[in-house]
Amino acid sequence: MSAPKKSLGRATRLVHDDYVAPSPFGGLNVGVHHASTITWPTVAAMRARDWKHDTGYSYGLHGTPTTFTLAHRIAALEGGTHCLLVPSGLAAIVLVDLALLQSGDRLLLPDNVYNPSRDLGGTLLAGLGIETRFYDPMDPASLDALIDARTKLIWLETPGSVTMEVPDLPALVAVAKRHGVLTAIDNTWAAGLLLRPFDHGIDIVMHALTKYPSGGSDVLMGSVTTRDDDLHQRLKAVEMKMGYGIGGDDAYLMLRGLATMEMRLARSGENGLALAHWMSERPEIAAVLHPAFPECPGHAFWKRDFSGSAGLFSVIVDEAIAESKVDAMVDALDLFGIGFSWGGVHSLAVPYRMAVPGGTARSASRWPHAGTLVRFYAGTEEVVDLIDDLERAFLLLKD
Ligand SMILES: *Cc1c(COP(=O)(O)O)cnc(C)c1O
Repeated sequence: MSAPKKSLGRATRLVHDDYVAPSPFGGLNVGVHHASTITWPTVAAMRARDWKHDTGYSYGLHGTPTTFTLAHRIAALEGGTHCLLVPSGLAAIVLVDLALLQSGDRLLLPDNVYNPSRDLGGTLLAGLGIETRFYDPMDPASLDALIDARTKLIWLETPGSVTMEVPDLPALVAVAKRHGVLTAIDNTWAAGLLLRPFDHGIDIVMHALTKYPSGGSDVLMGSVTTRDDDLHQRLKAVEMKMGYGIGGDDAYLMLRGLATMEMRLARSGENGLALAHWMSERPEIAAVLHPAFPECPGHAFWKRDFSGSAGLFSVIVDEAIAESKVDAMVDALDLFGIGFSWGGVHSLAVPYRMAVPGGTARSASRWPHAGTLVRFYAGTEEVVDLIDDLERAFLLLKD
């Protein structure tokens, strides 16, 4: 295609023009590129296209300046070299599973895993002939016992979704390495800042960018980061076949959120610690499940492996207090929304049912608590206002 040179009809003029905007443009942010079609100056350039590397453009689905910039920034955040961006955190989990597992293979998940990942094993993966087994993340020997010749992938997560146990990550990785099995970690809680999974020898780092990186509770996105070119190409080939891609506006919002993430995380983490301390002194609370608290299983591993706290933690309400009262307390909170997707500036509270179908796998075997679990997320509000709100709502837990 070349620029129009002679007089053209009006409809054509609405589509083609000679103007080329001056370059470089000194704005501080990468532009928002929207594209499905990508064109080449010549047929030879089109034939020489390369979708495998971020060195050129081939199709909107496979990258634009906006999405490539975000992917490289996430890779740098995680300490990796390659990053794939997909439409949600869950999509990132699905991508890793489908890229690395085939019929007849075995997948190992921690029994406190993010629940949709567990569901995936029991449904979609089971239907494809992939077996999912659960290990106790607090017992590396239980992982060792489940690894067989068919085992192709081990997921790690720290702390556990909802239940907040912190596993001995290096010990679990050592077991996987001894058997030569690939490891993938869900690094969402640590936001890519509080834990360095690649330093522990983990192969794949997945992150629900929906949470802290976005920070606005308004964008869904997931990332899969590696630092091995072959592994990246294996994942990328499947990403392409599945038709996963992200839009320019979402990538732009993510870049905007990412820039302030460290400050937001620090504030949210501090607020979370303050709320957890407040809870630990309340007679209505039987246990505070926050990795920075000694009573949280694996606290010593958190101290060793993490550089700080995110604002997400859980508490166990005294078992003498009925679930209906806990629900009423949560309903009465003004500043805490009742919602799942955390990582934004708004505080949240969600009661969970642990010992029933739909609770975590962990609850089925080893869950030691009888009281209702409430997961809290501390946003960036003034912590005194959050505590005032809790003080008022906690009155409903009394007789
Ligand atoms: C939210 C979350 C996900 C999934 O992210 P979505 O973008 O909501 O699909 C995965 N893992 C963890 C630990 C999460 O908190």
